[in-house]
Amino acid sequence: MFRSCAFCNTPFDGDGGPSGLGVGRRIAFDEWKGRLWVVCPRCSRWNLTPFDDRLERIEAVARAAQSGRVAASTDQVALIRWERYDLVRVGKPLRVELATWRYGERLRNRQRERMKVVVPLTVAAIGLGIAANVAAGGGFGVIVWNIHRAVDWVYLRIVGSRKVSLIESPICTHCGSIMQLRARHVQHARIVPDAHADMGVLLSCPRCHQEGAQLTGIEAVQVLRQGLTYLNLARGGRRRAEDAAREVDRVGGPDHLVREIARRELPLRALRPERGLALEMAVDERAEVEELERQWREAEEIAEIADGTLGSSTLVEEELRRLKNRDGDQPSG
Ligand SMILES: [Zn+2]
Ligand SMILES: [Zn+2]
Repeated sequence: MFRSCAFCNTPFDGDGGPSGLGVGRRIAFDEWKGRLWVVCPRCSRWNLTPFDDRLERIEAVARAAQSGRVAASTDQVALIRWERYDLVRVGKPLRVELATWRYGERLRNRQRERMKVVVPLTVAAIGLGIAANVAAGGGFGVIVWNIHRAVDWVYLRIVGSRKVSLIESPICTHCGSIMQLRARHVQHARIVPDAHADMGVLLSCPRCHQEGAQLTGIEAVQVLRQGLTYLNLARGGRRRAEDAAREVDRVGGPDHLVREIARRELPLRALRPERGLALEMAVDERAEVEELERQWREAEEIAEIADGTLGSSTLVEEELRRLKNRDGDQPSG
């Protein structure tokens, strides 16, 4: 149970207030990334709360924080007083424009990767085409147009037949075969809720076409990244970063999006195109954010706030002011 500090075993103080956790007087939260911590009254370490209902709890804490008083803040952290609770807001909610920019970067990287394959293919195909055309005495323009389509098709085949890199290939529970997953097979997979992880990915067996294995954690993320890259490429059409960013924003962030899709348990290929792209971006970001979370715990500013020597709130406020002034002295960047 989530009753005492995972680091020092001290029972938490307070009753959790708006979080509904039932414990905690100092509560830290990050709305966009979907994080919620209870700060230990003794060792001041940040205890990440269980994932179940976390999003609803964060919403409730964020609402309370809006009517609270900001005691002190830096660019990244704000200490907010609300009734008898200390609410620590981490990070800034990201704006759609910023997400658009980040997703745009990702799409441009995909495009660069594509050109590495497409350009040599096109050159080779045009060479062949001209030779064939001269022999047949036909028009040049038709050939070039057809080559463009043929090369796109070949590229899609290449991406689709890439092996999904897993540490161990899953075994189908229906037919007992070892699943040799290619990126194109993942479009039949479904994201489903999982009792022990953020989400599960239910795989369709390439041989018997039954749902034969469920992955979680890093493996689920790996499968999704490769599968969605293929799926979104296969659908073609507009691949606009802005649409994906709006889609993520509309549902309230990447974690909400993944949960929403898991709740509906649709195969990936049944997702609307903009939602498919949004999911690809969200999964990529989650992988990044999970890495960041590990780093975040080590981050200096947090360590200073969470430092056991800063036991009293006054000291925390002073520390935050000091950090703010220090930032103010430096050119922004
Ligand atoms: Zn502790
Ligand atoms: Zn099978």
